[in-house]
Amino acid sequence: MTECIFCNIIAGKSPAKIVYQDEQATAFQDIHPVAPIHILIVPNSHIASVNDMTEEDEPLIGHLFSVARQIATEEGVDQSGYRLIINNGPHAGQAVFHLHLHLIGGQRLRFPMG
Ligand code: AMP
Ligand code: ZN
Repeated sequence: MTECIFCNIIAGKSPAKIVYQDEQATAFQDIHPVAPIHILIVPNSHIASVNDMTEEDEPLIGHLFSVARQIATEEGVDQSGYRLIINNGPHAGQAVFHLHLHLIGGQRLRFPMG
């Protein structure tokens, strides 16, 4: 077991409700949803945060957004709207240091952010 919970989920060693998986990315239900739809989209390779991504990761990060869009459509929120969030570092409250895109929707989301 690695110490990274998301690496373990990707490897099938820790439980999660996986909604999508391919060679590059995995998506699963957030364990503490903040809205009716709250799904995390993660790269299968361990990148700790946006600060740790490299130029080589650019296609992979783009792929995460394509997966997010696909899931938003499958979940029926592509037209009603949704929010994609990446928390980076302490002020943003990043708690898990494996890069992840939050896909949040299914209700009118509170605003403003920050
Ligand atoms: P962040 O603050 O952006 O690092 O968010 C981490 C997110 O991961 C939070 O929304 C947590 O609820 C979620 N989370 C932590 N552990 C798990 C887990 N084992 N399965 C699913 N989601 C998790
Ligand atoms: Zn990891």
